[in-house]
Amino acid sequence: MIKQSVRNITVLLFCIISLSARAHDSNAQYMANEGLMVVHGDTKIVFDPLFRESYGQYLLLPEEMEQALFAGAPPFDGIDAVFISHHHGDHFSPADMVRLLEEQTGIRLYAPNQAVLAMRSEGSDLDSNIFDRVTAVNLAYKDAPVTLEMEGLLIEAVRIPHSGWPTGRLDVENISWRVTLNESTTVLHMGDADPNDVHFAQDAAYWNRNNPHMAFPPYWFFSSASGREILNNRIKPTRSVGVHVPVTIPADPILRPLELRGFDLFISPGETRLIPDQD
Ligand SMILES: [Zn+2]
Ligand SMILES: [Zn+2]
Repeated sequence: MIKQSVRNITVLLFCIISLSARAHDSNAQYMANEGLMVVHGDTKIVFDPLFRESYGQYLLLPEEMEQALFAGAPPFDGIDAVFISHHHGDHFSPADMVRLLEEQTGIRLYAPNQAVLAMRSEGSDLDSNIFDRVTAVNLAYKDAPVTLEMEGLLIEAVRIPHSGWPTGRLDVENISWRVTLNESTTVLHMGDADPNDVHFAQDAAYWNRNNPHMAFPPYWFFSSASGREILNNRIKPTRSVGVHVPVTIPADPILRPLELRGFDLFISPGETRLIPDQD
């Protein structure tokens, strides 16, 4: 009888320990294109969630997901912060972001200055209060990375030129966000970063510390040798999941172009990844 009780208590303790361990699991949930949510405990952050352009090759947000986001319904309830990589139609819709901040008053926004200016020009009847919750980062190419903080989040930002450098899209303020949730889970969202090591070599010490548990590079970091080298030698994430994947790329790795077979890609809205344990 006593033995049985001891066993029961042991099982109970084991359950409590596993439950509390599970509560601190971090995961990433795919939305569409480069849109995704990262969750650690009660902390939720979202990258590039609202955009209207598919340019005929990228996924748009499914209708139900968009509705849940605006309504603050699960899984998008209690979002703490939204991050915008850059002001391009397949990443960011100024009018929709204004609407989201109006409807969800607990959300803070971090975005390049270019994107915030576009939101400000959405109309004069704007509830200007929303801009109290907006942080614009004003970074030029080669500027030192900046660090920001809010409750539960350490936010680091650096401008990495948009793909097409050095001949095209030089005016686009593309920000790579490295965010640490609750001092334990670090993720990196790169926007449409150009995969040339020269952009990363100049901040070698920055990239060499606080290596992300999970990085979300645009898929062209996998399909180019220089992109793979930047991931392996500079960013050094525990894991990477590629984003910005064209709709023509199949979910089944065997059916993909050879250069994308060995990599993990976000393909289907709603799919999730567990973020590897903190060290
Ligand atoms: Zn872009
Ligand atoms: Zn893009």
